[in-house]
Amino acid sequence: MKSIRLLAGKERSLLRRHPWVFQGSVAKGRADAGETVRVEADDGKFLAWAAYSPESQIRLRAWSFDEHERIDAAFITRKVNAAVALRRRLGLPGEATSNGVRLVHGEADGLPGLVADRYGDLLSVQFLAVGTEKFKPQITDALLAATGCTRLYERSDSSMRGREGLPVVNGWLRGEGSTEVTVHEHGWQLKVDVAEGHKTGYYLDQRNNRALFAEWVQQLGCRSVLNCYSYTGGFSVAALKGGATEVISVDSSGAALARANEHVALNGFDAALHSTLDADVNTSLREYLKAGRRFDAIVLDPPKFAPTTAHAERAARAYKDLNRLALRLLNPGGLLFTFSCSGGINADLFHKIVAGAGMDAEVDGHILKRLEAAPDHPTTICFPEGEYLKGLVIVRR
Ligand code: SAH
Repeated sequence: MKSIRLLAGKERSLLRRHPWVFQGSVAKGRADAGETVRVEADDGKFLAWAAYSPESQIRLRAWSFDEHERIDAAFITRKVNAAVALRRRLGLPGEATSNGVRLVHGEADGLPGLVADRYGDLLSVQFLAVGTEKFKPQITDALLAATGCTRLYERSDSSMRGREGLPVVNGWLRGEGSTEVTVHEHGWQLKVDVAEGHKTGYYLDQRNNRALFAEWVQQLGCRSVLNCYSYTGGFSVAALKGGATEVISVDSSGAALARANEHVALNGFDAALHSTLDADVNTSLREYLKAGRRFDAIVLDPPKFAPTTAHAERAARAYKDLNRLALRLLNPGGLLFTFSCSGGINADLFHKIVAGAGMDAEVDGHILKRLEAAPDHPTTICFPEGEYLKGLVIVRR
């Protein structure tokens, strides 16, 4: 077993059970990609067992902080079983919730660099780090055994793979057949294509926020709804469920919008209640404003503008501008669901950005609720970096 020695003082984050060690913290030692290594402090004291990644800025990802642990197939199976068991305790998958579930959420489940989602009877998995790549057969077996599923699709086509020196992979790992599956979520159905869809196929993290949107649209009697960055129209279907009579889905992906139309039909709604706009959101909001259009409810769920804090400033300006436009487009009493999925922008900063947008728009509102990712995308006490999705429910005054 190879050892990697850290520079003096650089043991602190592992001692706090934070799972990452950056390149600049390593004093000496090398290993192969994905090899399990013993990480030790400057004085030789054991810190963690970790996967070594020779090409990544994140040089080490900790598997375990217990010196007696063996990082083998049994270890991987225990971690996968614990992750699946947690979801079961959360009622996922379940009739009342959904059969689209995040089963493994990387670091939060003690499996750094692994994302595994279940859509109905098939699994869609991203192996995002060399450590998970090395244990791919064991992870695959463990996921299939823990769920009883027989098909597993690999969606290792994230840009994170490149940073780990790994090639892009998109294809069946186990089983074969159609990559499309219909999942249910609360009271509606959605089609997911694990080969073509974003991420592993869908945005499961917004599941509970879509349900909440349906409730608030109904509670406040919203009629006209603008769903910005709609993707395949999850929030649009939720709006229709809540009784909206005019819903517009805006996205720059024509394929996603075609799916949004399919979802309206699939859930039994009249096609006349829904329209799509294949365009840039910011430009569209400006045009609506110029044309004097107003809406009873708006969703803003943009892509990640700031992956890290280094991009936060520019991203903050983009978020502020969007929120300013949306606040101005709301009818008095109207509802705004506004989100940021940028890891580089925390909940406090996001609130400040939206406050700035309100000042600029000269619009005030009541914050009814703060939102986050669904609980099958958990964060842990020791790894605050895992927190990414945050949102506000605002009612315009
Ligand atoms: N709210 C969705 C997920 C949104 S993901 C859901 O609940 O499923 C972000 C979406 O923004 C993607 O579908 C992407 O195609 C779209 N997008 C990215 N940049 C855009 C832009 N400038 N204008 C419009 N849509 C954009």
